[in-house]
Amino acid sequence: MDFELTESEKRFRDTLRQWLRENLPPGWGTTVFEPVDLHEKVAFLKEWTRKLHAAGYVGLSWPKEYGGAGATLMEQVIFNEEIARFKAPTPYNAIALGMVGPTLIEVGTEAQKKRYLPKMLTCEEIWCQGYSEPGAGSDLASLQTRAVPDGDEFVITGQKVWTSYAHDAAFCFLLARTDPQAPKHKGLSCFIVDMKSPGITIRPLRQMTGEAEFNEIFFDHVRVPRENLVGELNNGWMVGIGLLMHERATTSILYQANLQVLLQDLMALAKRQGRHRDPLIRQRLAHLYTAAEAIKLFGYRCLTKRLRGQPPGPEGSVHRLGLTRLTQQAYELAMELQGPYAQLMHGSPYALQDGMWQFGFLRSRAATIAAGTAEIQKNIIAERVLGLPKG
Ligand SMILES: Cc1cc2nc3c(=O)[nH]c(=O)nc-3n(C[C@H](O)[C@H](O)[C@H](O)COP(=O)(O)OP(=O)(O)OC[C@H]3O[C@@H](n4cnc5c(N)ncnc54)[C@H](O)[C@@H]3O)c2cc1C
Repeated sequence: MDFELTESEKRFRDTLRQWLRENLPPGWGTTVFEPVDLHEKVAFLKEWTRKLHAAGYVGLSWPKEYGGAGATLMEQVIFNEEIARFKAPTPYNAIALGMVGPTLIEVGTEAQKKRYLPKMLTCEEIWCQGYSEPGAGSDLASLQTRAVPDGDEFVITGQKVWTSYAHDAAFCFLLARTDPQAPKHKGLSCFIVDMKSPGITIRPLRQMTGEAEFNEIFFDHVRVPRENLVGELNNGWMVGIGLLMHERATTSILYQANLQVLLQDLMALAKRQGRHRDPLIRQRLAHLYTAAEAIKLFGYRCLTKRLRGQPPGPEGSVHRLGLTRLTQQAYELAMELQGPYAQLMHGSPYALQDGMWQFGFLRSRAATIAAGTAEIQKNIIAERVLGLPKG
């Protein structure tokens, strides 16, 4: 990999830096605490995303005809790195921008692309992803939600769980069983479901951070027009896995950019607490730093492969596992550095940095669950990278 940016990439980065200097919302740019009031946070993030879009920074690598900027994958990576470096808020509508949008660009009909893509970019329509069920998470192909053909429609019945953003979503990208007689991977299909359809009930689930971004969704004979089928009937596994590859790649790029900044903040915390002279703390900081550098270089190797036109492969699991564990270890050390103050949360007048490390610590537990658990990533590495027999 060539580590030097090209002249046009440098121009892109410098213009973006200038834009961020001029447009960073008040209160951002330092280490900030994410407000727990979800309603307030969402309204702010939608507005911020619209501003980014108006400046040409949302849907960077999407085709221009659907409202994107037609930029390169490398420019998307630079954008993520700079957003993290400036400690600016990331664009909202993550599921649409990072997963559903790229999937529709690949396999959607022309009508679906024209109808749905532009409004994802402006946050006019928020999306959620209906995959997991109470009995189907890691073993996703065993999902039970049924979609039964009925004339020009499908009738959907079942339950989804852990559905992020469903309470605010206009549409759900749903994976459902259309052929119960076929082997479990072969009888699935993907649908676009209007979340205002009769028969949908949404119940929020509160996380340990205090936020309620997750939901359960119940589908009771929900009617979906045939034109909302994405890809071929009964080929939903391939479409759905394609979306997950986008999810893993997108979230890994974000984790990588954020980890570098997180470690700088962690070093500052160690100094502030007077612990940076402690040899054991120094060793742990040095370990985190060197491991983060190594995983960053590994990420660049995966990126080089993609820049050469090859699809993301199983080695992405090494990248993701490394990044998510290091992120958790950084927060664990931050808690130790605070001593008894680690027990104080946002709102306490004595909480260091308004409890932002505590919030991040609790939130980072999800990093090794979402988009495939750490154990599932290890299985992929064992079987598909190392060539070991199935466990
Ligand atoms: C922050 C966050 C956001 C999410 N958002 C969404 C969303 O928007 N839409 C959605 O559909 N889902 C979402 N999920 C759900 C997520 O995809 C699932 O939690 C995940 O796939 C794991 O499934 P599960 O929770 O059912 O755990 P299970 O699959 O039941 O796993 C339980 C435990 O068993 C282990 N295990 C399972 N199988 C194996 C195996 N073969 N080998 C070794 N160990 C194994 C797992 O690693 C885990 O530790 C989200 C989850 C999180 C944390």
